Amino acid sequence: MIGNGLPLVDVREIETLRHYFTDQQASKVKSLHVYGPADRLSAIYITVDDEVYLAGGDSLVGDDLTAPTLKECRLILELSGKSIAKVVVGVHFGAALTEGHDLYIWGSNVGREAVDVPAGLTRLALGVHQSGTGSCSECFCELVPRRWGGVLLSWCPQCRTYCNRVSKFPLPSSWVGEPRTVFGYKADDVPPKLPESFCVRCGFKECFVQRVANFMIVFCWICEHPIDGNTPIIPLQTSSNPHKVTFPSPLHIEDIAAGRNFMLLQTSSDLIVWGEIGDQKYNHAMLNLDNVVPAKIACGSDHVAVITDEGALYTSGEGGAGQLGYEWSTDWPDHLTLWKVELAEQAVDVACGCCSTVCLLKTGKYVLFGADYAKVLNVREVCLYTSNSLFCVPSNAPRNYSESIESVREQFAKVKDDRSVVLTGVVTDIFILLQTSKSEKHEGHVLSETNKSVRDASSQTDFESKISQISIKLKDIGCQTVSKSEEVLEDSAVLQQHLGLRRCRNFSDNFS
Ligand SMILES: [Zn+2]
Ligand SMILES: [Zn+2]
Repeated sequence: MIGNGLPLVDVREIETLRHYFTDQQASKVKSLHVYGPADRLSAIYITVDDEVYLAGGDSLVGDDLTAPTLKECRLILELSGKSIAKVVVGVHFGAALTEGHDLYIWGSNVGREAVDVPAGLTRLALGVHQSGTGSCSECFCELVPRRWGGVLLSWCPQCRTYCNRVSKFPLPSSWVGEPRTVFGYKADDVPPKLPESFCVRCGFKECFVQRVANFMIVFCWICEHPIDGNTPIIPLQTSSNPHKVTFPSPLHIEDIAAGRNFMLLQTSSDLIVWGEIGDQKYNHAMLNLDNVVPAKIACGSDHVAVITDEGALYTSGEGGAGQLGYEWSTDWPDHLTLWKVELAEQAVDVACGCCSTVCLLKTGKYVLFGADYAKVLNVREVCLYTSNSLFCVPSNAPRNYSESIESVREQFAKVKDDRSVVLTGVVTDIFILLQTSKSEKHEGHVLSETNKSVRDASSQTDFESKISQISIKLKDIGCQTVSKSEEVLEDSAVLQQHLGLRRCRNFSDNFS
């Protein structure tokens, strides 16, 4: 896991930290994570003796402007001797992953907190539609799939009803497969008042109910996904000191990454977002509609990028600068669904900047999505021990790493062996691409046409296709920022109207 950072010959190359280290101390630093504003830089570093220290500003999180500057490095007892492999720090929290896959957290509890099951509702298991598995119990007509948010419901075209299997917990022994945990009530119960501020995916406040078999299931108004009835994954953290997280059920965490104020956890089965994206708090698994297996994760300031084991690129989060690689608009508030980015070739590596994403393709070409000022310094062939080929330059890296290709080359020339320090930190929008001689014959260049990629229209609901039409209009008028033109606002009105119609339709479905 370590090795995701830039190699430094000596930790003292970071000027503001220079005076903390004697020759002997500097030679023991294995990795260094820098964060905080440039004039009050903090750094957490790990030594070859498995000790973890703090240098610079006396703060373990990114935004503590009142923290005094340390006179000398301070040992972080709670993290020392724990085989910490990776450290990430956001503005209000920090986290570390050990070689043994234990997670340590400190700072504020940035994740969404558990809410009580609203009065009148209960947690239910919803079986997802599977092809060829069933006919309607009333008319024996073959059931067809219908997508609602991220789930497939089984629709009987004859009876015009949804017929998925729904059960209260605990599940009967005859239940097959993994159910979705949702909220709902028995169809013949008195309808409860639906609560507000409910959807864990998009934070939207309104919901509606849809009858499925003999139950009424609660759906989010905006993302149309059934309200996730699972409890938040990371329990409420009450201590701001570094401490090991205990999960209610065992979780094998393979990697962690962090954005401005959220953490992405890669487990053996899920990608989990804990913290804030946009102005919403999250603490649930991302929706993985295509059931892809993540191979590498990266986080920008407010977005996530994932490369799968089959070389596909998926992204999610805020996309106002184009960093998601597909059309996105602020009307689309779901930050918890992975959408595929259309690429001309297989992806082999990905890195995120603050508002940008760079994806290295199999043939050595790369694609850059996002902020206009983002740039890739394509260094080409450098003889280096590291197998990593794509880096985002941390904001406090030595200037050589961001000035020019020549200066980067010069910097790398100093790194001759594997005794160098691995530097990570808060991301910029400057990337370094190192290529082996094998891939060098394909000159790296931006494949701008892939910027036009849009999500697969065949899997869209009409709500989604409306979103994408609006987004395409955004593109047509050259609007790559979050600011809206009058034309777009007009379209938002159309969208709202569309939603209104949809809402009427749902309610009439429910109550007729
Ligand atoms: Zn039927
Ligand atoms: Zn929602």
